[in-house]
Amino acid sequence: MSRARIRSTIAGSLPKPRWLAETEKLWPQWRLTGPDLDDAKRDAVRIALYEQERAGIDCVTDGEQARRHFVHGFLERIDGVDFSKMVTRGIRADRYQAEVPTITGPVHRHGAVELDDAAFARSLTRRVLKVTIPGPMTIVDTVYDAHYGDRRTAALAFAGLIREEIDSLVSIGVDVVQLDEPAFNAYLDEVAQWGIEALDACVRGAGCRTAVHVCYGYGIKANVEWKRSLGATWDQYAHLLPLLSGSQVDEISIELAGSRVPPEVLSAVKGKDVAVGVIDVANEAVESPRDVAAVIDVARRYLADERIIASTNCGMAPMRREVAYAKLQALGAGVALANSATT
Ligand code: ZN
Repeated sequence: MSRARIRSTIAGSLPKPRWLAETEKLWPQWRLTGPDLDDAKRDAVRIALYEQERAGIDCVTDGEQARRHFVHGFLERIDGVDFSKMVTRGIRADRYQAEVPTITGPVHRHGAVELDDAAFARSLTRRVLKVTIPGPMTIVDTVYDAHYGDRRTAALAFAGLIREEIDSLVSIGVDVVQLDEPAFNAYLDEVAQWGIEALDACVRGAGCRTAVHVCYGYGIKANVEWKRSLGATWDQYAHLLPLLSGSQVDEISIELAGSRVPPEVLSAVKGKDVAVGVIDVANEAVESPRDVAAVIDVARRYLADERIIASTNCGMAPMRREVAYAKLQALGAGVALANSATT
């Protein structure tokens, strides 16, 4: 009996070329300005899509080439967030310090945030197109709030504008919208108190497939050290997955490759597809297709093939570019290998 084909995607970001921005940084400076920068961003999107298609990835993104940072790139176009008032604060439960903008008044969109970039990517590919948006808890954790006074109220305000943004993206043919919520792993109590409520406010009634990306972060030094402190077994997903299973999203991500996440937590996911991380972004060693297929086989013990979407553990923005592209190829080849074993 033939089984459903396992699909593939990436968490979202790819490294930016060195002619576009500083490399291997989370908050890189652009190399160009004005129309030259706009042109260069679009050329980088062309390359990002080409590399994913060449690797055989089913569900592609624009590699987040037009955004300086995955949260602040979105907030730069939101009224009520002031980038002239930068504040240094600890984020992700004080795991690291970041310079963040200030919420100075009610937040709202003055027009669609990601529409032009998404429409450009849509014009370039016929593949399933995913657009990533920072989730409300992660946004609230990456700003300084001088207006709302509590995190839930601020998160629900952002959820309202994210919901509008999703409608804009659906109108130009985006297939999947993914909310990035790395903060979920840092604030388990708040996820239960208001995180799922805010997530659902973003996606309820959306006219496209919706996903939430929860991870242990980019492969930067602060995250690698944090992971070392988490002990032999990482139990965050065991707390989160029952909560996420009750949410409105269609798809949940899990970081599995090279992690200490016990794979049996996958059986706690009910009624959702799972983006299973089969590529480690915290390690420059490029996986072989066999390595990738082996992680997929672990997931298969708990999930039917039609519910598995093989993915990178997290975004690859801060990685070396040649390593990230090689990992893309490994992802595509590993999924092909896993699928060829099913017929
Ligand atoms: Zn991530």
